Amino acid sequence: MKSCLVVDDSKVIRKVARHILEGLDFAVAEAADGREALDHCVATPPDVILLDWNMPVMSGMEFLRALRETALAPLPKVVFCTTENGSAHIRAAIDAGADEYVMKPFDRETLESKLQIVGVV
Ligand SMILES: [Mg+2]
Repeated sequence: MKSCLVVDDSKVIRKVARHILEGLDFAVAEAADGREALDHCVATPPDVILLDWNMPVMSGMEFLRALRETALAPLPKVVFCTTENGSAHIRAAIDAGADEYVMKPFDRETLESKLQIVGVV
């Protein structure tokens, strides 16, 4: 079973993502900010991370930078979630180490296709 860490400060988004991911046979863990996510990754590295961008404590961008500084190998795949459609914003995330992105709100088909692109389904 593949594992996915859902990182979002919105409990509602985490719940929706968990439902979709469990339907795709993922073992799902949740974190409410980048700091919690980093602690989880060091202790229990997931196969893939669904990463929100705007969060308190540690943002998605800060998390990506910190993740790359860990000794984790291989690094988990990262799909970042955004409500902003700007190409500069998306490029910044890819440059920071995200593998793919998905626009919020996402449905099962969209998320599954992104997970296929990064090679975890
Ligand atoms: Mg957020």
